[in-house]
Amino acid sequence: MPLDVVILGPPGAGKGTQAMRVSAETGLSHIATGDMLRAAIAAESGLGQRVRPILERGDLVPDELMIELIRARLALDDTSNGFVLDGFPRTFAQAEALDAMLADLDRRVGLVLEFQLPDEVAYERLLERGRSDDEPEMIRHRLDVQRVPEEVVTYYRAKGNLVGIHADRPVDEVFGEVQDVLATVAAR
Ligand code: AMP
Repeated sequence: MPLDVVILGPPGAGKGTQAMRVSAETGLSHIATGDMLRAAIAAESGLGQRVRPILERGDLVPDELMIELIRARLALDDTSNGFVLDGFPRTFAQAEALDAMLADLDRRVGLVLEFQLPDEVAYERLLERGRSDDEPEMIRHRLDVQRVPEEVVTYYRAKGNLVGIHADRPVDEVFGEVQDVLATVAAR
């Protein structure tokens, strides 16, 4: 079933893990903007050089760059049967741009999963994950900067396709809840 899914949630919510499982189960393409940016940095491309200091600081990459990155990604064939978008949108401008891009393709965001978990749990998870950008003060900063903006949640809620997911649980339980939601959407 072609379906365009957006996963919202703070760093440490398990968006990437769950998006990969959804992708494996449904065949929807997994698009992870953080992975794309880290790949650009590893390849030392122009984009990579530009965003490297931003990721190192734990800040957000400017909207224009992110929107162009997603525009180029959605132009690739493998997304035509639907995608699971993990890490985008992170701002209201990105959410609006995504809708405009999809409208041009005669598509729309069909489902928004909002992964919810307490700040302290996100903090502990990021501390354990121990990526190089996950030093304690950096984690606090990322949680502050990368919190899902309320206006993005409100925007999708108003469209009626936002579903909250209890992300403060073991991976299999979260995935079970995600599968239940996908089954409900498929039955619509
Ligand atoms: P993630 O792997 O999703 O935690 O993303 C890693 C980093 O990439 C973030 O800390 C941001 O600096 C940057 N990033 C990823 N997606 C976005 C986005 N949609 N808007 C702005 N910055 C982003």
